[in-house]
Amino acid sequence: MYSALWMFAWDLQDEGVEKVLGFAADCGLSAVQIASSYHAGNFILGHNPKRVAYFPEDGVAYFHPHLEVYADTKLKPKIAEVSRGTDWFAEAGRRLDRFGLKLVAWTVCCHNTRLGLLHPDCVTRNAFGDPYYHALCPSNDDVRAYVVALVKDLATHYPMYAVQLESPEFMGLVHGHHHERQGVALDPLSVSLLSLCFCEPCMRKAGERGIDARKLRATLREHLRAVLDRAPFYPLDRPSDMPGMVAACPELGRFVEFREQVALSLLK
Ligand SMILES: [Zn+2]
Ligand SMILES: [Zn+2]
Repeated sequence: MYSALWMFAWDLQDEGVEKVLGFAADCGLSAVQIASSYHAGNFILGHNPKRVAYFPEDGVAYFHPHLEVYADTKLKPKIAEVSRGTDWFAEAGRRLDRFGLKLVAWTVCCHNTRLGLLHPDCVTRNAFGDPYYHALCPSNDDVRAYVVALVKDLATHYPMYAVQLESPEFMGLVHGHHHERQGVALDPLSVSLLSLCFCEPCMRKAGERGIDARKLRATLREHLRAVLDRAPFYPLDRPSDMPGMVAACPELGRFVEFREQVALSLLK
């Protein structure tokens, strides 16, 4: 167990490593959780002496990746500009004992729009085959190899107490992308169904478990088309929640279980 403050490389750069670590120690915390791999954002930095608003780069690494760890991975990390000249994990790491703190790497795994745009074959595909570039698919072996390498790199090259994983799993349709527009009032079931991935690895691996993913995909397409055609009204002859949908389509329940196993197996 540990108590910690989430923080970013720009906090360490702009406020000073010692000041930030000293603040965490003075607060009685036992660790610092520094973002090691992070997505884009729009931040207000209330106590930063150099800037107030900040837009971090998308899908970049805030440590110095050891490239040999990624020699066989298709997906490669990219160093953030703020970390290019200084490895803030190393800087914090060598001062931990002095401040009585542990180091934790706050690591975003499958949410990476930069990598998704570079490798569209690695992203989530909805039932219509549309890519969700923000969501690398955890069924994809190239994505899995990248996530494992990222964690291994952090765990073996820094005095790491823990690697905290964010999004080591499937992501959905909605996640806070800028200017998300739906144009129709999507009901929760439709959002859930549009969040399911039918990329090639998902289809193949589900098939290996005896799930007819093609049939399921066709069923969901037909259902979603019928719902979208009637929006903003909901067709009364259609299931309107997940239990009802699973009752009408048992293959869906098995597919959801399959997805849970995919995500869990990545953690093992
Ligand atoms: Zn995002
Ligand atoms: Zn998939």
